[in-house]
Amino acid sequence: MAIRSVKAYPLSLPFDIGGPKPIFAGKTREMEMLLIRVETDDGLIGWGESFGFSIWPASLEVIERLVSPLAIGRDESKIDELMLEISRKLHPLGRAGAVIFAISGLDTALWDIQAQKQNKSLATLLSAESKAKIPAYASLIRYNNPDLVAKNTAAAVRQGFKAIKLHETGFDEIKAARDAIGPDIHLMVDTNCPWSPEQALQMCEKLEPLNLFWIEEPVWPPEDHEGLALVKRKGNIPIAAGENALGYSDFNDLITKQSVDYLQPSVTKIGGVSEMLRVMGLIKNTSIRLAPHSPYMGPGLIATAHLIAAQKEEIYLEYTFCQMDLNPLGESVLTQDGFFNISNQPGLGLKVDMDIVQQLLVS
Ligand SMILES: [Mg+2]
Repeated sequence: MAIRSVKAYPLSLPFDIGGPKPIFAGKTREMEMLLIRVETDDGLIGWGESFGFSIWPASLEVIERLVSPLAIGRDESKIDELMLEISRKLHPLGRAGAVIFAISGLDTALWDIQAQKQNKSLATLLSAESKAKIPAYASLIRYNNPDLVAKNTAAAVRQGFKAIKLHETGFDEIKAARDAIGPDIHLMVDTNCPWSPEQALQMCEKLEPLNLFWIEEPVWPPEDHEGLALVKRKGNIPIAAGENALGYSDFNDLITKQSVDYLQPSVTKIGGVSEMLRVMGLIKNTSIRLAPHSPYMGPGLIATAHLIAAQKEEIYLEYTFCQMDLNPLGESVLTQDGFFNISNQPGLGLKVDMDIVQQLLVS
């Protein structure tokens, strides 16, 4: 059989975070999703997602102009062969960023189709002993306000989450969260690369009494793996990073340089399910734990959940803490009491409401 079409739908999803939304690149943050639909000539439909977050117009162009023409007519079951060929053809355009985000969506959709053809969920295709549900952590968007942090962390605990991640860099905000949730809830802090290694170490010293589960990307630039390793050695707080790694060799470098305790590949950014599996292979038989990056609300989130469910270890799913009233994937993207249920339907088990897709489409 062969791929008949590859289509991309840029969506803007309404969401409420219990406070003002942060500004990114001069604009209020939207929840953007680049939804990828792949159809085969025997009528199977697979869904994928390419990293949205303000960059989707570039990825959309890549899919429509380059990826789709290279994929149409090709055997959808030969995922490795097709991804390798597309990667080789497009490599002069960059080995990270919009091109790889675009490829990621195609790859995930092909895995969805592959699992459907075997009448297995993706999780079961990856492991016969996959889990039916996995724990999620509430990933809070940045508030820059201790009162709003306290209010929303408490709300996340009331919803059943046993682990919460902040996107804050201020000590007062982080302390407010710990005070609001007490000592027993895991608290992570994602700082998004703000500091030099020396500044990061100073912050780690201040934050150590708050008993953080991990501190994420404390060092600028993200590729300063030596600097990150220094913070890991001396900072007394576990380190998480990887969402900005520039592909497989960069992940390997993070591991070789002993820069992380938690590795964070992102299925919509690094090349889809295929590349996630390769990167996850790097930390087999090491003390490094997997903590995938998944602050998105589409097939990328579901694929990440299936990848986690196929692992023996207990691994948290990153889940954006927000109220979302309209999503074409409906209830399949919701958590229950801090857990995410894995569908046992074939593939990713998605029923995508195309009326809602049309309603949320960005023109
Ligand atoms: Mg992060």
